[in-house]
Amino acid sequence: MSIDKYTVKQILNIEACTRCGLCSEVCSAYNANMDIDISPAKKLELLKKRIRANTLFGKIFSRHAFTQKELGILAKGAYECTLCSRCEVDCPVNIDLQKLWISLRADMADEGKSPEALNMLKERLEKSYNISFDSNQGRVEWINQVEEIPEDKYVREKADVVYFVGCVSSFSPRVFKIPRSVVSLFKLAKVDFALLGDEEWCCGFPLLGSGFKQEFIEFAKHNIEKVNATGARYLVTSCPSCYHMWTHTYREANLDIKMNFKVLHTVQYLYELAKSRALKLYPLNLKVTYHDPCDLGRNSGIYDEPRELIKKIPGTIFVELENNRENAECCGGGGNVEAVDRELSEKIAQTKAREIIKTRAEIVVTACQQCVRTISGALKKQNSKIKVMDISELILLSATANKD
Ligand code: SF4
Ligand code: SF4
Repeated sequence: MSIDKYTVKQILNIEACTRCGLCSEVCSAYNANMDIDISPAKKLELLKKRIRANTLFGKIFSRHAFTQKELGILAKGAYECTLCSRCEVDCPVNIDLQKLWISLRADMADEGKSPEALNMLKERLEKSYNISFDSNQGRVEWINQVEEIPEDKYVREKADVVYFVGCVSSFSPRVFKIPRSVVSLFKLAKVDFALLGDEEWCCGFPLLGSGFKQEFIEFAKHNIEKVNATGARYLVTSCPSCYHMWTHTYREANLDIKMNFKVLHTVQYLYELAKSRALKLYPLNLKVTYHDPCDLGRNSGIYDEPRELIKKIPGTIFVELENNRENAECCGGGGNVEAVDRELSEKIAQTKAREIIKTRAEIVVTACQQCVRTISGALKKQNSKIKVMDISELILLSATANKD
């Protein structure tokens, strides 16, 4: 057993679990099917047994060995989880559950229990440095539809800002409108920016989140080196998972390379542009609600900027979802669940869609390409006419509203 996949703190946390079950009550993966085997409390219970059975202390005092059947149940629970962190909000003993679930995946991967879809994802990443089936040369194809693009397509050696697009927005046509909107806004605000082109590699989160805990380091070092070389003061990304990797995981990994720039999510950068009037916002007269992406909200603590930014648009009526900020429900698109169990991912998204419909908003705004994908699909299935937009699209709509 790979007990080394867990930190000492995590092992102590597992022992500290009181089995109160509060985490399971709010877990959207568990609630989707009421499958007790994937509930966080069950995972804790099995983990406690697994650790006890495999430490020297455990071997002396534990009466039961950890069975292959239990290992199978634990592996299922490990991967049928969106890594949304909702479970840790109400935990009375403050267990850092999301990080524990990532360690659990590393443990399961070591046992050869990671799903085939994630093993294949790892192979693709190691071959082409992105999550798609395409070559990394195609990283900026999406830009061809943006008006008046220079010949270099903004792939430049020097710039004040580097826009780190992320794999999904770079390769999934369904969300190309996100990087196109960001670039259009940067042009409008006269931002001196660059794209890394095929030198932008995946941030590494799909590897880490699949249980391959060390493999992201090569990706992190490459990306930091490339951004440092541009002399940029800021790295801006529209992907919450990339943002969380750059601001938390890369730093916590104690890499032997320094970041000479500040990392911001587009909600933060666009908010600053709007505040300084580099971007002027014109009335839209729309009723808007906002979905907090897990990696931006709960996992990174960014709740105010997107709300303030939306409220800066004249005429906009902002309504909160019933579950918002740290209590926000996941959209179902996190934790690679879509690749492992599409049906589960869709069920979680349906719950989210029902909550959005209740607000009677005309637009649901979010700040994540993956949330845009899953929520759009779920609202469509419920025949809802509510539009789903990334915040960059909404801001572009407002910034160009005077042109109509
Ligand atoms: S991270 Fe989300 S899906 Fe996973 S156990 Fe916690 S609440 Fe459930
Ligand atoms: S909420 Fe915390 S203490 Fe309660 S069962 Fe879940 S992990 Fe254990």
